Order: sequence, then structure tokens, then C-alpha cells
Amino acid sequence: MTAMHPSSAGRRMPVVFIGHGSPENALDNNAFTRNWKSLGASLPKPKAILSISAHWLTEGTAVTGMAQPRTIHDFYGFPEPLKKYRYPAAGAPETAARIAKTVTAARVQLDDEWGLDHGTWSVLAQMYPRADIPVVQMSLDYYLPPARQYQIGRELAPLRDHGILILGSGNLVHNLTAVDIHAEPFAWAREFDGFVEFALATRDDDALIRYTREPSAQLAHPTFDHFLPILYVLGASGKEKPRQFNGGIFAGSVGMRCAVFGE
Ligand code: ZN
Repeated sequence: MTAMHPSSAGRRMPVVFIGHGSPENALDNNAFTRNWKSLGASLPKPKAILSISAHWLTEGTAVTGMAQPRTIHDFYGFPEPLKKYRYPAAGAPETAARIAKTVTAARVQLDDEWGLDHGTWSVLAQMYPRADIPVVQMSLDYYLPPARQYQIGRELAPLRDHGILILGSGNLVHNLTAVDIHAEPFAWAREFDGFVEFALATRDDDALIRYTREPSAQLAHPTFDHFLPILYVLGASGKEKPRQFNGGIFAGSVGMRCAVFGE
């Protein structure tokens, strides 16, 4: 065997949350992306990836069911190579159908229009640059109560025994209005990130489900989309304690923290 990855046969796949930051991280070589890359190389090679990205918001919950998802360039004003980039991974229609059938915390519909948005491909471009692992995306129902989103995560957990890597992609601090490339981390950004770091380390899932109670939550997340993927990851990870990395805060207001459970 010359495979780069340890075999995934017979073991439970880890669950991963990645703080993705700028789309440019897809092609950059920096301290954050180098850690994504080495994570991809060290995990057992998945049979498929289920990605819950901050960038697909729907009414109701959906999973991509197509055999060949397109690469969606859901951003403006970035350099040409990024606009032309394609991540040609196949879809996994059988996995999608299985999710739609087994999840009960929400009705999950099969989608044939979305594809892979940059929340997914900017991370996978670094973790799995060969794009040789099929990918399914799951959408976020923005109005579903956080506890129900966590519950969906719990129902996804059995996929881990079938070689499927569950990936949440968002940012645990995310205020784009406040972004300032030259700024030191804002006090509220540090405060909210510190809350998340501690709650993850101690597995205080209730505190994370009720994150809007934190005094700094409104500034850390003027909208909830980039926080919500962690709830699915927590649900899918049972009681496992995570390894956290990339704890830096980018441009004052974007938390890059990542967490791997069960590696
Ligand atoms: Zn994003």
C-alpha cells in the first residue's frame, strides 16, 4: 500500500470544524492553511465528506444529491485565479439519499441545484487537493432553533461508522463589517472566542447552543450563519473532547479557530 492516508477501515471517522476565513485561503499558503493541509493528510481517508457550510442558507434543510456538483463562486472582488478555480470532486448521491431518509429532527430534501460553495471548497482545496473524495453539502435552515440543528448533528453521527467525514465550515467569530486587515483582535472578538474555546474544551454544549446569551455574541455574530455549523459538529461528536488549533483572530474580527473530535 502506498496510500498517504491511514486506512479508514473499521474505525469511526473524526468530526471536524474549520474556521475558513477568506476565500483566498483556498490557494494561499499560510499558517492557517498549512494546518488544514496537515490535518487532511493525517486523518483516515474518508469514503465521502459531508460538509455543512456557513454559505448555504435555506428555508428547510437540504442536501446536494447530484453526481457531479458544480463549484460555486459565491463572492465578489477576489483575484481571477480564485474566480476560475474548480474543485472537481464527485457528489455522493447514495449518501445524500441516506441522510434525507434517516434524519428526523428536520425534513431533509434532496437538492439538485446547489453544488460546492467556497465554505466547502476553500477548505477542501487544502485538505484534499486531489479532489478524489466525493462530497455532499448540507444546508443550514437559518430559522431552525439551535437545539434542533444540534439534534440533526446527533442524527448524522452514525455516518462516521461508514467512513464519512463530517465537516462543519464557518467561523466562530465573524463580523465582516468590523474587518480591518491591520487591526489587532477586538476585545469582543477575543472575549467571544475565549468563551467558545472554553466551552469546547469542557464540552459545555448547552452554553454553545445558547451562545446568543453571551454579552459579546451580537458583535461576534451580527448574523448567525458562520456559527451554526459548529452545532452540527458538536451533535455528531458525542462527548469527545476536541483538539483545537488555529486559534488566531484574523483582521480583528474573524476567528479562525478549528476543532477536531475523535482523531
Ligand atoms: Zn465564510
